[in-house]
Formats: sequence, structure tokens, C-alpha cells
Amino acid sequence: MTQPLNIIILGGGIAGLTTALSLTKFSPPSHPPPNITIFEIRPEPATLGGAVNLTPNALRLLAHLGVLDEIRAQNHGHECLAVEVFDLYSGAKVAESSFRGADGKGVGDPAFTALRICRGDALKSVISVLERHDNISLICGKKTVEIRETGQGVTICFADGAQASADMLIGCDGIHSATRLLHVEPERTAVYSGICNAFGFAPRRRGENGDFALTHFETSALNFGRRGILLTSFHNATQDSIYVGALMQVPEIASRDGWKAAGADAEKTRGDMLERYGGAANPLIEQCIRDTRDLFLWPVFTLSKGGKWATERVVLIGDSAHAMPPQGESTGIVFEDGVLFSRCVARWMEKGRDAGVPVKEAFDAYERLRRARIDTAFDESQSVVKTVQDAGWLGHKIKMNVVPWYLWWTKGYREQHFVEDVTTCDLGY
Ligand SMILES: Cc1cc2nc3c(=O)[nH]c(=O)nc-3n(C[C@H](O)[C@H](O)[C@H](O)COP(=O)(O)OP(=O)(O)OC[C@H]3O[C@@H](n4cnc5c(N)ncnc54)[C@H](O)[C@@H]3O)c2cc1C
Repeated sequence: MTQPLNIIILGGGIAGLTTALSLTKFSPPSHPPPNITIFEIRPEPATLGGAVNLTPNALRLLAHLGVLDEIRAQNHGHECLAVEVFDLYSGAKVAESSFRGADGKGVGDPAFTALRICRGDALKSVISVLERHDNISLICGKKTVEIRETGQGVTICFADGAQASADMLIGCDGIHSATRLLHVEPERTAVYSGICNAFGFAPRRRGENGDFALTHFETSALNFGRRGILLTSFHNATQDSIYVGALMQVPEIASRDGWKAAGADAEKTRGDMLERYGGAANPLIEQCIRDTRDLFLWPVFTLSKGGKWATERVVLIGDSAHAMPPQGESTGIVFEDGVLFSRCVARWMEKGRDAGVPVKEAFDAYERLRRARIDTAFDESQSVVKTVQDAGWLGHKIKMNVVPWYLWWTKGYREQHFVEDVTTCDLGY
């Protein structure tokens, strides 16, 4: 029987962990499952972060990988039927992006709605499923200092002097990827997008009768102001807290330490948010900002559009290849990357590996499938950056008229992705 493929993944974030699961799930029955070692730089996978929205296509893939059952078993997240859009100053709802589908049960077949979930809870559920697979190991606290590639394989050298070798290396090490910067395309560095996400969680206030105070939104609201968008959303089953995320234009700070210092001053961030979203018609907005705990300032960095994704034996997946500002589907895009990439590798194992065809053929097939989708998502993310930028009153009025039209115009395109099942689509390979 053919020897198992040896794969190294750098990065134990969403992309690294779900790509390991996908490679296992889609490994052809005619071959032994690949041996996968994930090296994470941190002492343990970071379960920090805000609440992300998993769109129907993302949930479909998590169901396929066995992770959605785990999320449901742990009662993580809160179902999201629609993201509603409100004008901060009138309090009026102007539009929504819906996941209800024609009969209210969701989109696609089988139907899924969406789920707002803390990044950390999603990651924990993926890790629980990963631990059930003997062919995958996760090793933390490893810093890569060198990557060497030959016709026979890839070797990575760690700061502690250790080395590891494999048939291929997958860089899932995020926006500041060492795989990219040490090996694939060192000149492609991250650039500040001009916007920050200040986020935290506000415990929900109760009325005089002891019940939670009502909210203007069903699950998730984007509250549009002149100087940014404030996301208010439920993120857990008990609805006892509201995730608050303020996307806003913030001037660049030159150094990493400078960003750290700005982030550490939570009260300054809160003051900035109060000033920006002041004048909201709905008093809940100001309450949420005042009540938010552990405010975190997340400067959004981005890579240039395009770029190189692979060498002969090393490939980039997720943010390491195409980090972009949030555009509503970022996490789902990363799951899709992992699944489509794994299917291409499986196809190569079936048709080319034993005949000595280089694995680059699978990398190229993946890139042909993925480029257009990623380029479009990148363009959408640039529209989000423009929408977040500071505007005058007239600019805000125009925005409030354009948003419903934009959501209507792009509805078909979005739904096409929500329905799409990349576990079965034609690979053209
Ligand atoms: C701690 C953290 C918090 C985040 N919070 C948010 C948030 O609130 N909202 C949001 O929209 N996005 C957030 N993100 C980004 C979001 O997770 C990603 O944009 C998206 O999920 C794509 O995932 P990824 O796995 O490609 O990248 P990431 O999620 O960034 O994961 C990359 C992983 O690789 C690890 N790593 C980095 N360098 C190396 C290296 N040299 N060797 C080995 N491992 C390495 C990192 O520690 C991390 O675990 C966060 C990312 C991190 C790491």
C-alpha cells in the first residue's frame, strides 16, 4: 500500500485546524489517511477574539467535518436569521441581509441559517473533533526560523534547534505568516487597512420586572453612523450578553508596541466610541458602549490583492494567502479554502501521486478554483472599508439610501454562495 502522505501545517487557528480535518475527511479510501502535524507558535491555540457570523455555507462545511454537532452539543453561539441594518440617528431599520430562506428554515439543501459564535468557542469545538483523529497532532510553542524546500520534501527549522520534515507544508499562520515571509513571497507584507474593530461583551441590563431589557434587533444589528458601524449582536444561547464591535476609521500607529499601548487604554477607546456613536436615537447603543467589558482594539491589517500562493511543495491557506478586512463571510471563506484544497490533494493522490506527478498540480488546480472568488471577496471588503470611513451628514444620508439598494442588488450573488456546497462541486481537475 502507498505510504501515508506527511503533511506539516503551520498555524493552529481556524484555517490550520479545519484544513487538517478536511484533509483527513477527503483522503481517498484507496490511500491511508495523511499524517498531519500542526505546529502552533503560541503556547496553546488562542481562543481570544470577538464573535464571528458563520453563514449557511460555513455551517454546511462544519456539519460535514463533524464540528457543527460538537458546537450544538456544547450549546455554543446563537442562531442568526438575519443581520439587520439600522440608521443610528433615526433608529429606523433600513434593510437586512437574511438567512431565512423561502420557508424560514434556512438556505440550501440541507438548509442552514447562520450562527453568531465567539471565535474561541468555534476553535474549541474544532479542537474537540480534531482530538478524535489519531493521524493529526497539534504541537504548540514552536517558532519557525527557516524553511528549506527540495525536490524531495520540505524541512522547517525551529528557534529551539529542532527540525521537522514532510512531503508538503501548508502555511495557515495568519496575516503575518512566516511561511509567506520566510519562503513563499517575502515582499508581500501586511498593510494597515485604516480601520480598527474595537470590541467586547456587554452584560445585558434588566428592567424593573427583572426581565432582560428589549433590544431593537432580533439577533444581529449593524448600526450605521457617520463615523463608523457599530455591531450589536447576541452570541450565546442565554442571550445574557451583547457582543459589541465598533468598526471605525483610526489613523495608523507606526509600531506594534504603539498599537499595543493604544489597545491597553480601554477607557480611551470607550471614550472614542461614545463620541463616534453619540446622538444615537436608541439609548441601548450608549448603554452597550458604557457596559462593554474587556474592550479590545483590533487594527485590521490586510494583504494586497493577488499575490503568490504556492511554490512546488509549500502552499498558503486562509489569511496567510488573502487576509482582507471583514466583509461578512470571512470565516466561511477560510473553511471553503480548506475543503477545496483537500479535495484537490485527494484527486492528485488518486490520479497522480503514484505516477510521480508533483503535488504542485493539486496546488494549481486549487488556485484555478479559488482565485476569482477571493478576488471578488477582496473587492467587497474594500467597499466595507469605504462604508466605515468618516462621512458628513450628506454622505451618511446617501449611505442610508444606498445600503438597501446594494443589499438587494447583491442578494443573488450572496445566496449563490450560501447555497453552494464545495464538498461536491465540480473541481475541473
Ligand atoms: C488571537 C486571534 C484573535 C482574532 N480575533 C478576531 C476577531 O475578533 N474578529 C475577526 O474578524 N478576526 C479575528 N481574528 C482573525 C481571524 O481568526 C482570521 O481572520 C480568520 O479566522 C482566518 O483564520 P486563519 O487561521 O487563516 O488565521 P488566524 O486566525 O490568524 O490563525 C493563525 C494561527 O497561526 C498562528 N501562527 C502565527 N504565526 C505562526 C508561525 N510562525 N508558526 C506557527 N503558528 C503561527 C497564530 O498564533 C494563529 O493561531 C483573530 C485571530 C487571532 C489569531
